[in-house]
Amino acid sequence: MTEQSMSRRSFVKTSGALAGLAAAGGTAVASQELFSAGEAHAADADTIAWSQCNVNCGGNCIFQWHVRDGKVAYMETDNTGDADFQARACLRGRSMRRWLNNADRLMYPMKRVGKRGEGKFERISWDEAIQTIADQLEYTYKTYGPNSIYIMNGTGTYFSMSKVGHRLLSLAGGYVSKLYDYSTHQLSAAMPYMFGFDEELGSVFSPYDNVNASSFTEAEQHSDLIVMFGNSPADTRMGGANATWDFARAREGVKSRGGKVVNIDYRMNESASGHADEWLPIRTGTDAALCAALIHEFIKDGKADLNFLHTYCVGFDEETMPESAKGKNKSFYAYIMGEGYDMVEKTPEWAAPITQIPASRIRELAKDLESAKAPFVCQGWGPQRHSNGEDTSRMISMVPVVLGQIGLPGTNTGQREAEPPVYLVGNIPFKNPNKTQLPVYQYLNAVDHGKKMTALNSGILGADELGTDLKFLWNFAGNCLTNQHGDVNKTHEILADESKCEFILVWDTVMTDSAKYADILLPDMMRSEVLNMQTQGYSEYYTGVTVGGPAQEAPGECRNSYDVCADIAEKLGFRDEYTEGRSYEEWVEYLYNKGRDAAADPVEGYGINMPTWDQIRKDGVFKMECEPAIGLEDFRNDPVANPLGTPSGKIEIYSETLATIAETWELEEDEEIHAIPMFWAGPEGYGSVTSEYPLYCSGFHYKSRTHSSFGFIEELKQACRQQMWINPIDAESRGIANGDMCLVSSPAGKMQIEAKVTERIIPGTIGIPQGAWHDADMDGDKIDKGGCVNTLTTYRPTPLAKGNGPAHSIIAQVAKA
Ligand code: SF4
Repeated sequence: MTEQSMSRRSFVKTSGALAGLAAAGGTAVASQELFSAGEAHAADADTIAWSQCNVNCGGNCIFQWHVRDGKVAYMETDNTGDADFQARACLRGRSMRRWLNNADRLMYPMKRVGKRGEGKFERISWDEAIQTIADQLEYTYKTYGPNSIYIMNGTGTYFSMSKVGHRLLSLAGGYVSKLYDYSTHQLSAAMPYMFGFDEELGSVFSPYDNVNASSFTEAEQHSDLIVMFGNSPADTRMGGANATWDFARAREGVKSRGGKVVNIDYRMNESASGHADEWLPIRTGTDAALCAALIHEFIKDGKADLNFLHTYCVGFDEETMPESAKGKNKSFYAYIMGEGYDMVEKTPEWAAPITQIPASRIRELAKDLESAKAPFVCQGWGPQRHSNGEDTSRMISMVPVVLGQIGLPGTNTGQREAEPPVYLVGNIPFKNPNKTQLPVYQYLNAVDHGKKMTALNSGILGADELGTDLKFLWNFAGNCLTNQHGDVNKTHEILADESKCEFILVWDTVMTDSAKYADILLPDMMRSEVLNMQTQGYSEYYTGVTVGGPAQEAPGECRNSYDVCADIAEKLGFRDEYTEGRSYEEWVEYLYNKGRDAAADPVEGYGINMPTWDQIRKDGVFKMECEPAIGLEDFRNDPVANPLGTPSGKIEIYSETLATIAETWELEEDEEIHAIPMFWAGPEGYGSVTSEYPLYCSGFHYKSRTHSSFGFIEELKQACRQQMWINPIDAESRGIANGDMCLVSSPAGKMQIEAKVTERIIPGTIGIPQGAWHDADMDGDKIDKGGCVNTLTTYRPTPLAKGNGPAHSIIAQVAKA
């Protein structure tokens, strides 16, 4: 342990008390030193309303709203306790007041008066809105049944009462649940076949928990090599109690031992920025080919850990192949060494033209990995967001598996660094009586032709078939109807057809692109306008809970979603069952106390004493230390006593279950599912460029937005302009200079966007930050002026996950506009 980290971690245990002291009496004592004398005087007069950044970056950074005369004067972030241990907001969170007080806030319930998607609405009363929703629910249940009602993926706000709609629809008769999410769709579907299913979560694999993955602390303390595949916390999770900070410390730790960081990405991302020697450029979507070649070198150099592979794994070579596949050259070894499958040896020379990485550089990285005492291999979620993402995510994990470098200090399982999922308070409870689950990216197909969708052709779980099209979409705090889904143009066509989906409810704070498709559009309150409670997020060092607010009143007729759902429940005849006699505030207190009791349990909980409700209402925040984690440590220590959740209890490099799925599922002619991880280019992947679309194109997460959240904040748009990244080689051949407006075309659509000509992106691939707000004349040329990358993505769910692989697998052409 380094001296620095010791000081940080030894402090942690007392931070809850200090947090309490800092805010005792409702004033931020600790904050005063941050201001000049005059400002400090003003701050003295303020009351502090604690709150949080509740968007889906996961950080849940802490806000202290300084309130004067009932209005937010300014926001201060976490300043409680040790500076190494604070959930400080990033530039996004620090712009939250501009969202809160934005002139574009939705203020009244509205009903659609134009064509669906046109964005024309008229104001109605809450009573009319509530009656319409209740009537439409009754009609839909009666006419089509619960499999026609779907709650959209909505991650715009995370808080302890965010599932009020789930509770309402569970009591009303149930709904189709979403399976997986847009972040980790392919990885979540594929990894369980290799590392086991999570019994508690059913089929959904937790892609970042401390069972399957190691924390960056392990790298900081013990690793001598960090290899990151498409992983850039500095773009995605920038806040103080978030992965950027953890990674920065890991870099320091590794370098202090003479080690290094290798950041493999098609662009030099913000995590590698300033550390150019760490960047290893790769063609987008070809990570699995690089991994195959690295593993080829491990085998050739005698560095594959056969003892580990034969003890802990199934299917590396013939010795551990299951009976059903023995003697058929179907092992992973056979694939890598060219003795089976495509009969091609996966040498660095084979991988070089695919990945654009010279063979010598691949060999060099292989040697680095072979000689490292504790390589920490991790992947972000970009590499799996490709049409070949299921194989890619597993193949990245094969790098440490073949070296036998998992479950040991300083190593990782090839998955994203762990963020221990310690949730101190839960959400409002609900129990959906309908067991049907729909892969989240299939929602649009289910609107279009749900009746034809089955478990075997569409990945539906919990039922053999959907049996109906989706007729009622419930969209709360989400922009996945259009903007964050695939192929905006196709999505528009299907949603605009009112004979397909008959009713769309959207509930948001501003007019997103998805909101334009609402039949009824409801104005939501911001979390700072209500009593807000949420457990802490992605820090690997600590978890906690923040409780506070409201900081100021919501504008117009904005109402609390819980109260509105209670009114809908009343129309449907089950208000008492819905509320259980509790108001919104009483539910929050109840959930806090429930979490507090659970946390106190020394066996099932953490054996900690959280503050009483009265105390947390004064303190605003409570923090608790998390232990660093080594992924699969228990399994490594004793694989018999701690088997994985796979059929064999081992790491299934060859999965018989996947082999059966490959044979029994109904796949398109050009789709493939593989029992072992391998490099398969996939649609619009490597080799699919044409003379019309000669470039690869990929989306990437951008520091000015969390997905599409904050996408309308003018200051953030100016600070981080929406630009297409293009290499000078590709730009010059097209006569494009930095700052030129360009037209980007793909088979799915067209967009106008400014060029950022930079050597920070590999030639042959362009990059477009995801999450920008779509802005096109959908009755006219449909050219998107907002820079929404999903204008360019093809709606083509992946073979196994039925997921959003095309998000980063795009072929495109660029011209000066
Ligand atoms: S890091 Fe994430 S949670 Fe924290 S302020 Fe930024 S966007 Fe919000």
